[in-house]
Amino acid sequence: QPIVSLGSGEIEGFEALLRWHHPSRGAISPTEFIPIAEESGYINSIGLWTLREACKQLRNLQKRFPRKPPLFMSVNLSGVQFLRADLGTKIDQVLRETGLRPETLKLEITESVIMEHAEYSDQMLNQLKQQQIRIAIDDFGTGYASMSYLRRFPFDTVKVDQSFVRRMSLDPESAVIVKTIIDMAHNLAMDVVAEGVEQPEQCELLRGLNCESAQGFLFARPCEAAALESMLGTQPKW
Ligand code: C2E
Ligand code: CA
Ligand code: CA
Repeated sequence: QPIVSLGSGEIEGFEALLRWHHPSRGAISPTEFIPIAEESGYINSIGLWTLREACKQLRNLQKRFPRKPPLFMSVNLSGVQFLRADLGTKIDQVLRETGLRPETLKLEITESVIMEHAEYSDQMLNQLKQQQIRIAIDDFGTGYASMSYLRRFPFDTVKVDQSFVRRMSLDPESAVIVKTIIDMAHNLAMDVVAEGVEQPEQCELLRGLNCESAQGFLFARPCEAAALESMLGTQPKW
């Protein structure tokens, strides 16, 4: 799914969203199969495959559509993957194989995973930062103690959860929460991606709050890599 810069109105990167096309059951949502893959341990091989595939697709898009700064890819990381000590080595391998610059890869880790393993997260996130990989905290605002955790860890990006974005044009309290998250992230030198933007009014409100980037059905639904190529070819602007 494209991520759009609210400053330029152009696509600046993507989030890799996994799909399972089952031969008889059709399309199965990641919210259904990821938890099962996590329990069975398959998530490690699925996650590594996803990372490799996402990096390959991104490298291809970067070559076809050179930009300054280059297009980036955000990849979701399961807590199970994050807790493996060899994560950094595995990612390094994939980056070398695919010829991708590490600073164009962003790992999305949910707030809850980080909060449940704070000590470990300190170490692992700093290691990943040393490898020049970017880190985003996903679904921000849905857990407890979020505010103090923002300062403690080296995040590059805060992803505002879609539940706040959805309500912000209807309910002033949600709009205040979104503004607070954006201001706080900026004070800590982090940028902000708003998720689940569906309405032009939400987009305008977010622009007014100096939110850097947004993703959602207003811009584009998640799609196959081939569709991204034709989309980038038409240079859409929002
Ligand atoms: P997420 O990381 O919060 O991803 C955003 C979800 O919001 C995606 O659902 C996306 O399709 C959906 N979305 C995007 N824009 C809009 C919008 O404007 N409106 C609405 N209503 N929804 C929007 P999806 O693709 O079904 O993925 C669900 C979750 O599954 C993700 O939530 C993520 O936690 C997980 N997931 C997806 N791919 C992967 C993966 O490769 N690895 C892991 N570990 N988890 C994944
Ligand atoms: Ca995500
Ligand atoms: Ca999210």
